[in-house]
Amino acid sequence: MAQKPLRLLACGDVEGKFDVLFNRVRAIQKKSGNFDLLLCVGNFFGSTPDAEWEEYKTGIKKAPIQTYVLGANNQETVKYFQDADGCELAENITYLGRKGIFTGSSGLQIVYLSGTESVDEPVPGYSFSPKDVSSLRTMLCSTSQFKGVDILLTSPWPKYVGNFGNSSGEVDTKKCGSALISGLATDLKPRYHFAALEKTYYERLPYRNHIVLQETTQHATRFIALASVGNPEKKKYLYAFSIVPMKLMDAAELVKQPPDVTENPYRKSGKEASMGKPIPAPEEESACQFFFDLNEKQGRKRSSTGRDSKSSPHPKQPRKPPQPPGPCWFCLASPEVEKHLVVNIGTHCYLALAKGGLSDDHVLILPIGHYQSVVELSAEVVEEVEKYKVTLRRFFKSRGKRCVLFERNYKSHHLQLQVIPVPLSRCTTDDIKDAFVTQAEQQQIELLEIPEHSDIKQIAQPGAAYFYVELDTGEKLFHRIKKNFPLQFGREVLASEAILNIPDKSDWRQCQVSKEEEEMLAHRFRKDFEPFDFTLDD
Ligand SMILES: [Zn+2]
Repeated sequence: MAQKPLRLLACGDVEGKFDVLFNRVRAIQKKSGNFDLLLCVGNFFGSTPDAEWEEYKTGIKKAPIQTYVLGANNQETVKYFQDADGCELAENITYLGRKGIFTGSSGLQIVYLSGTESVDEPVPGYSFSPKDVSSLRTMLCSTSQFKGVDILLTSPWPKYVGNFGNSSGEVDTKKCGSALISGLATDLKPRYHFAALEKTYYERLPYRNHIVLQETTQHATRFIALASVGNPEKKKYLYAFSIVPMKLMDAAELVKQPPDVTENPYRKSGKEASMGKPIPAPEEESACQFFFDLNEKQGRKRSSTGRDSKSSPHPKQPRKPPQPPGPCWFCLASPEVEKHLVVNIGTHCYLALAKGGLSDDHVLILPIGHYQSVVELSAEVVEEVEKYKVTLRRFFKSRGKRCVLFERNYKSHHLQLQVIPVPLSRCTTDDIKDAFVTQAEQQQIELLEIPEHSDIKQIAQPGAAYFYVELDTGEKLFHRIKKNFPLQFGREVLASEAILNIPDKSDWRQCQVSKEEEEMLAHRFRKDFEPFDFTLDD
């Protein structure tokens, strides 16, 4: 049975501009019909004299919609909120209270927390403390049936909300906001979370509340920060949405994942999440200014400075990249590296021809420092890996080939992203996908399809063994390795009749050539790749 959705409005800091807000609401309702509720987060009252408020308080003017507001965020406005448990401030305008849950007759659940974060004792009248947050949490989450709430209202933003998400503009979510609210949002799993106080509008991509493949699927959360009423920049301060209370929803409908859903910004693993602690953003590795000249004879210019000017405008003392515990064949600084196979060097990654490759142009994308898998890479290394992928796709496309990529994080110590070009004339992307799926089935390897743009980091935990293949569409097939994974699987499938049809090359040891030959192939690759080489851009 379909439930008629509620039509709600949410609003950022009103700052005492009641007429502006309510005139706007009237205009909207006139145009698109009545809404059920208006929810206000941030500063409802301003610091200006309250002649306007007097008119509402005395009933000369009336809010055109049932309006619920959060309490004070500063000492000046505490006086308006007399009753900590909430009260009517004027006709149609209700103060929700310091903290609690509001359940409408429809069954809609709204959790509210007024004020800003404080760790001082006694807690000021315009703040909440860690105790307030934990009592809310206990009140709501202590039953095993607890699935989440419909709406969470807070005035400050949750700290780190921008992690794994779209840009939050000028607001640095690693610095601003409340970590207590991040923890609360993690536990409460609101479907919508509204906040204000930062004078800007930010609608984050929805994030998931479960860990893929480890926990059952849950509904996603949408975080929306709103600007101040009547701001001169015309940033969005009023947000309209429809919602069916989750209590009345079909379970499958509720947990439907939006296509652009991201990882949870507040946590990294299930263990940490169950502790309800927000996780600080990973510290970004500063750039390693490693370089050496590949082609001295050709007099190629390489600059060791200003390479990374975008991500670090004020470079600090460059930190060394992670070091291997023992000898490593792939750490660029290590003596074991076969430097003659190296064909391109970026800031964090490099390209090398595969030893005994499936073809003459089979290359590896490798981090310069010692990282075991893509899951462990820092953000800036990931960024450069992506840049190499895009560039290689373009490069191979110009040569009539499409790229297949795979990584095996199993019995390997240093990340090697294998990039194998397949002539367009040999097969389609679907043929490649089918070959992997079919041959995996034959060997009882479970391959999961992962949508384009999704990140292995969201699926694999650090330390867990896995294999994945990435098609030229960006689509990935992922296998969580339990035990006894055939080490040559990726190569075998690509060498098989269905794809490259070079079955005798499935073992790399069969494909080794002399060092002179390798030098010649590497030289040729460098020359061909040069027009695409982004590391030469200044
Ligand atoms: Zn290494």
